[in-house]
Amino acid sequence: MLTQPSKFSQSRPYRKRISRWAIALTLILLASQGFLIWSFSQTPFIQAAPDLPTRVSASWRVGVAAIGEKPALIPTYPDAPVLFCDGVTASAQKALAEGVALLRATDEGAALYDIVVENGVCIGTQDLDFNSAYATSRWSPESGWSDSEIVIGDYYVDWLYPDVIAAILAHEATHIQRAVEGTACYYVNACTILPNGVVLEEEIVAHEAETLWWIAAYGRDGKDRAFAADVSENHLKAHYLQGPQAFRDYVREIRSDKREGEGL
Ligand SMILES: [Zn+2]
Repeated sequence: MLTQPSKFSQSRPYRKRISRWAIALTLILLASQGFLIWSFSQTPFIQAAPDLPTRVSASWRVGVAAIGEKPALIPTYPDAPVLFCDGVTASAQKALAEGVALLRATDEGAALYDIVVENGVCIGTQDLDFNSAYATSRWSPESGWSDSEIVIGDYYVDWLYPDVIAAILAHEATHIQRAVEGTACYYVNACTILPNGVVLEEEIVAHEAETLWWIAAYGRDGKDRAFAADVSENHLKAHYLQGPQAFRDYVREIRSDKREGEGL
């Protein structure tokens, strides 16, 4: 009879200890989550958001982007401010500047950015229906290239994947390089034009520059924990590593969509 109450008296403090640990653990978890959200909200991208709802919605997107593997490159910010086209919001400017710094982290990327700067090409944003970005180039067979503009889809800027922005910039700057230097296939009438108007040779070279930047950033195995636009960069890289013919076929396949050029 006497042993029973003593059994209870032993188990009760034990139960209490468990619940105290559980509470402490929950508090630590909540605090660390709170800290994580707070640290996302301190990024320049979110600080530049105009109002609280925009900041909150951007915070979790930054959180998702932050889970992925980080590029094995050191962001190299240019001395002069990036030349933005008209109408680029403050938060988009922050995101694009991060992309530029990552692009400049490779020698090839830095050289491409130099061409953009030397030729006064601005970087803009636009709500694009289908394409991720595009570059315009005005040129004529007589006088060659005259001017260009790079435009990146709002979606890519909004999701703050500066690595994808850097890869896209490598692609678009390659179009501009070939237009400026007169090496593009259209100067010598040697292009394969897909039924939707896409110039195959130019896209192959531009996608190659894009994927070489991706490989410099993430190696031949690509980016771990990729969730959105970064998945397509991994796919592009995988086909590139299968050789020139596989890459050419893949570029033809992904650039044959009827929606190409919609709303540009
Ligand atoms: Zn292109």
